[in-house]
Amino acid sequence: MHREKQIMITVKLEPLKQWQCDSCGELIESPKDGWLEWLSDEDHLAYGFKIVHHLPASPYKDRREEGCYHYDRHTRRMDTHLDEFLGEDGLAHLLMFLDVGVVDPDSKGPWVRDIREFVELTRRLATPYYEEARQYWSRAEAEGYFSDANQVSPYLVGTLKKIIEKYGERGDRKVRSV
Ligand SMILES: [Zn+2]
Repeated sequence: MHREKQIMITVKLEPLKQWQCDSCGELIESPKDGWLEWLSDEDHLAYGFKIVHHLPASPYKDRREEGCYHYDRHTRRMDTHLDEFLGEDGLAHLLMFLDVGVVDPDSKGPWVRDIREFVELTRRLATPYYEEARQYWSRAEAEGYFSDANQVSPYLVGTLKKIIEKYGERGDRKVRSV
């Protein structure tokens, strides 16, 4: 019987449930503590996506009234609870940025300014282990880790776990084995 080889690794972030805040760099402990912000330009294209702490969970909340929010004073700010973009309905919210579907069949997406930025957001929200592995991405790249990669292989769960295993620092807070 074929059994897939399991990799035991130590992770700092629970996959698809914890993130590193784009503002303070600290741990977002759970989806309800997360917030998603972006801007909408004059052509209604979204850009500047940020995953940050929701104000009540922000380590900055006593020092800055906007907590970890980037665009609090920006007139074209869009924002919502992070958990809307997660789980089984998460993809419906993400794909809206590419095509609004039945509500307006004539509209031509995508409704994002930069597809690469949007794909990065999608990977962070929907690909297990990517949020942590991306912290080691530039080191892995510099050491030629992706020299034999194809268009998909760097983003597969098995690869992401190996990147964390190889480059992840030991002894960090919030360590657990998966
Ligand atoms: Zn934060």
